[in-house]
Amino acid sequence: MITRGRPGRATGAYEWGMSRPIDRDAIARLLEGRFTGAPGPGIVRGGRSEALRLLEAYDPSGYGRGRNHLRGPVSRLSPYLRHGMVSPVEVRDRLRERFGADAARLDEFFRQLAWRDFFAKVLAWHGRGLEDDIEEPKHPVPRERRLPLDIAEGNTGLPCVDGMLGELYSRGYLHNHARLWFAAYWCHFRGLDWREGARLFRRFLLDGDTASNSSSWQWVEGTFASKPYFMNRENIENFSGGEWCRVCRAACPFDKSYPELQRILFGASLAPLAGRGGSAAAPGPAGDGLAGPEPAMPRAGEIVWVHDGAMSWESPAVRANPGAPLVFAFDAPAMRAEPPAWHRVAFMLDGLDDLTARLGRPVEVVAGELAGAVGRAADAAGAGVIHLDATAEPAVAEAASRLGERFRVVGHAVAALAVVEGEPRRFSRYWEKAAPQVTGRRAERGARWHR
Ligand SMILES: Cc1cc2nc3c(=O)[nH]c(=O)nc-3n(C[C@H](O)[C@H](O)[C@H](O)COP(=O)(O)OP(=O)(O)OC[C@H]3O[C@@H](n4cnc5c(N)ncnc54)[C@H](O)[C@@H]3O)c2cc1C
Repeated sequence: MITRGRPGRATGAYEWGMSRPIDRDAIARLLEGRFTGAPGPGIVRGGRSEALRLLEAYDPSGYGRGRNHLRGPVSRLSPYLRHGMVSPVEVRDRLRERFGADAARLDEFFRQLAWRDFFAKVLAWHGRGLEDDIEEPKHPVPRERRLPLDIAEGNTGLPCVDGMLGELYSRGYLHNHARLWFAAYWCHFRGLDWREGARLFRRFLLDGDTASNSSSWQWVEGTFASKPYFMNRENIENFSGGEWCRVCRAACPFDKSYPELQRILFGASLAPLAGRGGSAAAPGPAGDGLAGPEPAMPRAGEIVWVHDGAMSWESPAVRANPGAPLVFAFDAPAMRAEPPAWHRVAFMLDGLDDLTARLGRPVEVVAGELAGAVGRAADAAGAGVIHLDATAEPAVAEAASRLGERFRVVGHAVAALAVVEGEPRRFSRYWEKAAPQVTGRRAERGARWHR
């Protein structure tokens, strides 16, 4: 386990009182063996300031018509939303301020933004359960749990798949449609387990998370949808601009009609099983793991745990505790098990530098088993109270729960785009209730819910 040294000593970690920017070489040494790729400046600048700049520059005109095209007017805000550098509510409100009630321009964008809110609710409901099938498969599923070498090397021989992998590995971003295509290729054309695909995405995507990632993989697999998602060559060609297909000399596995592909991929099994739906395991809301017994001898000192989904000076926990020491912890065992690309680490370090610059006080960066690392930082600060933004992200929620055995842990509520109670099962149902809250208008009847 990596631990930080005592405050004031020379260690690999960023320490109390040090001025910004964070010493990235020291962090790279601290996290050695827990990330892939060469430590460097990163590929996309992280941080709330950058998120706000992008938001200010973004114009969603044409989003409804163009969003499914790889070169369509998408926002690329997801890495910032994922890390809480900006919130969905802020994005919605700012776009409304800038474009008024221009429904044509905004509604489709808000509906897509709401998928994030929906998936956050799915995670809050299922907790760790989301990392396994949440419904029965709708077809016999071959499940190979491995990362094939050709995919690891981005060398499958299919220009489209290799192009997507190249983007994923070198830029940490994939357009939503490319994610759908790749996930369908992985699950249905290669017979690989969606959980390994989700793992690959988490390691490289700058927005890699549990909520949107695992839910979306399950949506493609058909364990969180009434049927599996798949595409054919025509679809790829249309929405990619044809650049891969023009140079492709491979025997294209996608070059068939949908009925033909359905028969090849799923045989006769899909039709009778489709629509069976239903949630195999409905464990009830998983909660945010923040309840815990009062510590025996509460200490007065307080810290704010800036976790990786709450990297903003507008975070409710940060705002409620001006002046409290700020701590960020890398989850070292999780990183050992699933090493992220360095660009993911660099993106977060940008976020911490930005936070430090704005607040004028440093963020202590520690690494280790999450509860242990945050607990030691709290001890070093003489704190008996740990504040954080409430989250359903399992690693953080579980660590918060364990910390509750020794500290008073205060979870600060984060505003959601919509309040919709009950088990979230299908986006269409959710949207009927959420639309008036998100857009100010009722959901259109008969609208298509395809993503
Ligand atoms: C297999 C698969 C895995 C995915 N993994 C992740 C992930 O790990 N993290 C993640 O944030 N998103 C994930 N998504 C959802 C979606 O692809 C990305 O949020 C989106 O592509 C981000 O790009 P953008 O910001 O340019 O989106 P825009 O089109 O500009 O949309 C604006 C915002 O709306 C939200 N949004 C849009 N489409 C979706 C969607 N289909 N699902 C959920 N939210 C959406 C995002 O927050 C996005 O930033 C995944 C989708 C698939 C199919």
